[in-house]
Formats: sequence, C-alpha cells, structure tokens
Amino acid sequence: MIDLCFLGTGGSIPLPNRALSSLYVRVSGKGMLIDVGEGTQIEIMRLGWGFRCIESLLITHFHADHCSGLPGFLLAQAKTGRTEPLHIYGPVGLRRVVDALRVIAPQLPYPIELHELGGEVNEFDTAGLHACAFPLDHGIPCLGFAFRLDRLPPFLPEKAAALNVPMKLWRVLQKGTPVEVDGRTIEPRDVQGDARQGISFLFATDTRPVPDIVRFGADTNLMILEGMYGEEEKYPLAVKNHHMLYRESAALAREAGAKRLILTHFSTSMEEPEISLPSATDIFPETVCAADGMTLTLHYPE
Ligand SMILES: [Zn+2]
Ligand SMILES: [Zn+2]
Repeated sequence: MIDLCFLGTGGSIPLPNRALSSLYVRVSGKGMLIDVGEGTQIEIMRLGWGFRCIESLLITHFHADHCSGLPGFLLAQAKTGRTEPLHIYGPVGLRRVVDALRVIAPQLPYPIELHELGGEVNEFDTAGLHACAFPLDHGIPCLGFAFRLDRLPPFLPEKAAALNVPMKLWRVLQKGTPVEVDGRTIEPRDVQGDARQGISFLFATDTRPVPDIVRFGADTNLMILEGMYGEEEKYPLAVKNHHMLYRESAALAREAGAKRLILTHFSTSMEEPEISLPSATDIFPETVCAADGMTLTLHYPE
C-alpha cells in the first residue's frame, strides 16, 4: 500500500491556512517528497511521519512555490543526524538551483545525489516505487510523474513443498530470489501463482493539458492534478500562465480512465476551492479537492 499526505495545497504564495505545494509519499516505511515549497519542514513536523526516512525529493520545476523550502528542509534533515544520502530528482537546471540554494545551507552531514532529468521520458526506482518522469507544458522545464508499486504474484506453499524446497528458503523465494535445492535452481515463478495488479498514481501540476498525462495515467488508481483555477472566466489566465482549470484536469482524468482525481495547487484567489468543484465533477464525478494535511492510503486491488 501507499500512504499519501498533502503537506501543502497552495500555488504561488502561502496563505495562513494553506501551505505551498508538497506531497509526502510513504511506502513500507520509506519516504519520498514531491516538491518542497517554502515552510514544508513545518508541515512535515506537524504530520509526524519523520524526516530521516525520506530517501528522495522530486522537484517538478524551479518556481519558488515548489522549491524555496529546500534549504530549511536540508537543515532539518541534518538535525536528525542523518548520514544516508538524499537523492534529489528534477528537470534540467537542477544542479544550478540546488547549488544556489545551498549557499545558505553549505554544511550537511550527509551526501546529496542529484539526478538531472533531461530529454523526454526518464524512468527510475525510488522509495520502493517505479517512477516515470515526463515533460509538462509550463513555459519552463517542468515534470509530471507516474508511479507504480508492483505486486509479486502470490506464493504457493503447495508448489514449494512439491519441489522439496525447505521452509527456511520460502521467504527468499517469496521475495523474488532463486534458491538452490539439491543442485537444482528453483525460480520464484516455479512457486508463484498468477500475476497480480499493483498500485499506480500520477502527479502533474503546473501545466496546460498534455497527451502524456493521459498516456502515462491510463487506468491509474489516482490522478493528482492541478486545480489552479476553478472559474471559467479564468480560462485566458490559465492559458497565459500555463495552468489548468478544474474542468481541464477532470477531462484528462476521464480520458485516461483514472479511478479518481484529487485537485491541488490552488490559486490564492480561491478562498474555498470546493466552491468550483462541480465544474470538475460534472465531467469526472470521482473528483475531490485536496486540503492541507489530508492523508489517504492506496491499497492493492483485491
Ligand atoms: Zn506552482
Ligand atoms: Zn509553476
């Protein structure tokens, strides 16, 4: 299963009751952060899932509302006594931005490994998830991410017993590693049942609609897209600033066949993001607005 927490759901500038963009993702005790807006460290403290288990930080793009919390986040990690490396993924320009922000956080007791994602599609594994980064349309380099948590097929003890595999080796096979028994190699597939569906979700904010959101989000369990503007009269502004209306995000979720949609990254002009929700649910009923501190768990389908 995958735990998610919307640490902040605001775009542009923070409000007293709405922090800037950041999503905490947790899989089997491993953490990952998508974006680190100003003050993200405060929201992590409030949540209580911890700093040190965060293995990686994915930065979608280099507008301040998505990365200005980096120095404070790095220093908060240092306070935990962290020595494990922190992986930071982001678009082209990552090194320049991180180096600049680190002028005020130069001494850290742990290494930082930067992964600058150029070109079209980049795939990598982090925090127990398989990630696929793809370009969005925001006027500057900006990435969307599609994630997958694979599930091993069920282990069938009766098959292991029939092959005389000692019980102490069952766990090894269960985890996907072959074992030797009486000179024979037993492969995990020899003792497994049929393939099982995993869990997927997609995250894309700060963009005009792009076909890759539908392509990489096909049949996904959850889409997290931007709700920068709700009202129809904001359409020209959305086009000009490379953002989406609620209804445009909803149309992408519907076209992809997503199971549900959560809107986030709300403009400061919307005091109550829920007011415009019908413009999304008319198109894609399974839509809700995120709120700061909202958590949810994605389970394997039965
Ligand atoms: Zn933004
Ligand atoms: Zn932006």
